[in-house]
Amino acid sequence: MSQSSNVGRRRLLQTLAAVGGMSLGGCAAPILSGGQTTVRLGPNDRARFLEPLRAHADRIFDITVCLRPFRAAGPRLDTERIRDTLVVHNYGHGGSGWSLSWGSSTIAVNKALAASNALAQSPDRIAVVGCGALGLTSALLAQSAGKAVTIYAREAIQQTQSARASGSFTPDSRIALADAVSPEFPSLWEEMARTSHKTFRDHLGLAGDPVRWIDRYSVSDQPATILQPPAEGDLKFAAYRGRLQDLYPQAEDLRPADTPFRADTVRRRSVLMFNIASYSQMLMTQFQLAGGRLEQHEFHDPQELAGLPEKVVINCTGYGARALWSDESIVPVRGQISHLIPQVGFDYALDYRDVNVIPRSDGIVVQAVAGGDMRGYNDASLVPDRQESDTAVRTLAALYSKLRRTGHS
Ligand SMILES: Cc1cc2nc3c(=O)[nH]c(=O)nc-3n(C[C@H](O)[C@H](O)[C@H](O)COP(=O)(O)OP(=O)(O)OC[C@H]3O[C@@H](n4cnc5c(N)ncnc54)[C@H](O)[C@@H]3O)c2cc1C
Repeated sequence: MSQSSNVGRRRLLQTLAAVGGMSLGGCAAPILSGGQTTVRLGPNDRARFLEPLRAHADRIFDITVCLRPFRAAGPRLDTERIRDTLVVHNYGHGGSGWSLSWGSSTIAVNKALAASNALAQSPDRIAVVGCGALGLTSALLAQSAGKAVTIYAREAIQQTQSARASGSFTPDSRIALADAVSPEFPSLWEEMARTSHKTFRDHLGLAGDPVRWIDRYSVSDQPATILQPPAEGDLKFAAYRGRLQDLYPQAEDLRPADTPFRADTVRRRSVLMFNIASYSQMLMTQFQLAGGRLEQHEFHDPQELAGLPEKVVINCTGYGARALWSDESIVPVRGQISHLIPQVGFDYALDYRDVNVIPRSDGIVVQAVAGGDMRGYNDASLVPDRQESDTAVRTLAALYSKLRRTGHS
């Protein structure tokens, strides 16, 4: 097999892994042989009328970089006592922090409630350290259990790593290494993912579309055939998505000729996405309306937590836990997204070659994904790479420059 053919197949694997939310590292065996039946579209099917993306580098209005807080063993959810204060940890969710947030925070809050209810002193108050996806969901869950909650955080939600995520339900993205987790972890993960998924349903159909279902098209220039295993040296990331099959609508293979794309394969599936700006603002507003207080504060030593008036603290410091808790089990996995000016009518997600696109209302998010889960591994640089963004947009421009006319036109 030629080198270019290998590269092409690897790209196809990345594209399919991305659209399916699967972890590349988990695909040791061929996973798809193109055996799925092709769907014939009706004359009015949306896929015939997809709005072309205005893929021009001068439409990039922002480039953001975020560090995924990856732990080989999965998120840290144990407890620790610091003098008279109980700390419940809730950090280290890799590329799945938003996706697992409600489930993980339910586990952490239940531990915090049990400890707090047994306290003689200030049993009604809980502190949360951190105001990202995990901090906000922990705070809201503790409030709905009747506690008065103060969030202490160096940064408010808009400045956190969470605000720089792309916004898909990707519950096993860089969540752990398959061979580093406890035997109980896969079912714990499933519980977290299912709890979260169920909670997201409560946020569907609201003003600002904080959470919504969209169509995601996976477009490939390569015929779907046998796929390659990960490259030598790649870590074996845990891939558990198969445990949630009942939550995902079936993917459909479309006839490329029915769509505007000049491609060999076009696959469509429905996926859950988060409009991070409106979603996080909604969570913050709910927290404040329920009487929650946010205090800007940076901790430099875990011992400082014992000085808080609250004697039960949920630690949601994400990547910050590496420094605060001297937890070197957290590995940064750098990710960069480019934000294109929103475009009326462009309302679907796309995977093409090494690039993903998500149509958020605050900007069309473009992310380069070559290298799969290993991309950005152990890279803590927060410096944006303009060339990476330009290259990703050029890749999309190549696809959109050769669209065919379909539908009624
Ligand atoms: C490019 C990219 C795309 C992503 N896309 C997705 C996606 O589509 N779906 C998904 O589920 N996940 C995604 N992720 C992963 C997601 O962003 C993280 O898992 C999530 O943001 C972690 O949230 P967190 O609340 O633990 O941490 P953070 O958002 O980092 O929040 C930590 C909080 O703790 C505070 N803090 C830290 N240290 C201290 C300290 N010493 N003192 C006081 N406060 C402190 C911070 O100020 C902040 O408020 C993506 C990540 C990247 C990089």
